[in-house]
Amino acid sequence: MTFTVLSAEFVSENNTFKKGLTELHDFAVDCLIEGDAAIAARGDANTELAGFVDVAREKGWRMIHAVSALASPAGSVSRAAYDHIAGIICRETTAHKGQLDGILLSLHGAQVCDFCEDGEGELLRRLRAIVGPDLPISVTLDLHANATAAMAKNAQIWVSYKTYPHVDMRPCGRKAAELLQDAMAGLTRPATLRRAVPMMDEINSGRSDAGPMVALYDQARAQEAERGILSVSINAGFSDADIFEMGPSVLVTYDSATPGAETRASAIADAHARAIWDARFSGQNEFLDVVNAVEVARGFDSAHGPLVIADYADNPGSGAYGDATNLLRAMLDGKLTNAVLAPMIDPEAAAALHRHKVGDSVTIDIGGKCDPNFGGGPLALTGTITCLSNGSYRGDGPMLGGLDHTFGPTAVFRVDGIDILIVTEREQMLDRQQLCAFGIEPARKAVLALKSMQHFRAAFEPIAGKVIVCDSGALSTPNMSRRPYTHVRRPIWPLDSDTTF
Ligand SMILES: [Zn+2]
Repeated sequence: MTFTVLSAEFVSENNTFKKGLTELHDFAVDCLIEGDAAIAARGDANTELAGFVDVAREKGWRMIHAVSALASPAGSVSRAAYDHIAGIICRETTAHKGQLDGILLSLHGAQVCDFCEDGEGELLRRLRAIVGPDLPISVTLDLHANATAAMAKNAQIWVSYKTYPHVDMRPCGRKAAELLQDAMAGLTRPATLRRAVPMMDEINSGRSDAGPMVALYDQARAQEAERGILSVSINAGFSDADIFEMGPSVLVTYDSATPGAETRASAIADAHARAIWDARFSGQNEFLDVVNAVEVARGFDSAHGPLVIADYADNPGSGAYGDATNLLRAMLDGKLTNAVLAPMIDPEAAAALHRHKVGDSVTIDIGGKCDPNFGGGPLALTGTITCLSNGSYRGDGPMLGGLDHTFGPTAVFRVDGIDILIVTEREQMLDRQQLCAFGIEPARKAVLALKSMQHFRAAFEPIAGKVIVCDSGALSTPNMSRRPYTHVRRPIWPLDSDTTF
């Protein structure tokens, strides 16, 4: 029997505190490709789509891929952008209605729009209105999903990443597709239950390399081998999206046709939710301020690899502006040498530098333009241009291997002993090619200051002599009380110390 499956990737993670909206052109910069062209671009890399395609080929599906639309994390998605992309998915679904045996979606789980808090829940509502309540829908989520009740209600199968840094996209796509295959073949009748924890996000942000979540992911993998338990997803939440249903959650997909599976799924979900709550004081990161981070750098011996300073709070990957200057200022004051700061997202500065040539000495204002209250204002700096580029690179690490990305117009600007990677488009540091492509050899540097919370570890920890984590005071500061929350349900920990569970 040949099954017909409609697939789509619609991925954005939205920081509601960030000024400005995510528009259609923001998707276009990262990825907005319809139909089989998306499979050609993303179908053989570490992506969910590749996992979908692997199973489609093995099982002989007729797969109709509507669109791959991915945007770097930024402000809420505009209605125009959302309606355009959701419209492509709904249009293809309507066109093939009656032929479809299932739907396979790669979503993030923390998508917020200017007209609704729950982009994924809204998409599923629109799809259900077309295909009715019974067609199997299988969805992959990022580990940082704020998985809502509406989401869980409107799809039968849920599979979230179990790694942070995220390196299991393709296996998750494969698992979601295999579970869909079993449902379409009538071998299972999947359903999902959800538990939410009254926290803003999991205390260790879901790190899978250290801390309390490591054991939970191991347990979840073991539980997925139990009879009738199909998928155990532990979502860390995303606290930069100020929505009512923010926070950690557990989704357990089980086979409702297997006797006892629902009871067991419920017990599994309760146990994980309780374990997340009980671990709320056991964070692994020690957050240094910029002065202390630079103090560590000044005394560091890089014989066994550079010191990596993670600028956690200015992580563009969580929607921070990526132009905070506090850490750079401290590095300059500390007279660090053979050091790198990357990226500084400043389209104006990149454009200004592109009006010069390599080797020119230039004085310009760098960074701090988006919101100086979070991370510091502009720095007037004199330096030398060592590289000018259109910003294109092809990843070669665990996360971006084989994928083409671009920073847009990019310059390397050397000020004293520090190479500053000045870029136009928002990306966090995920791959060594983000430096190598612009003439910076990261392993030969003494200090690498990288705007990223945790993902940088996948590619940079193997060459690092040591890693430290810095709270530069930028928008994604771990000090949540600095962000003006108005939508999240209360009480919630840690904003409300009297929260109970
Ligand atoms: Zn994530």
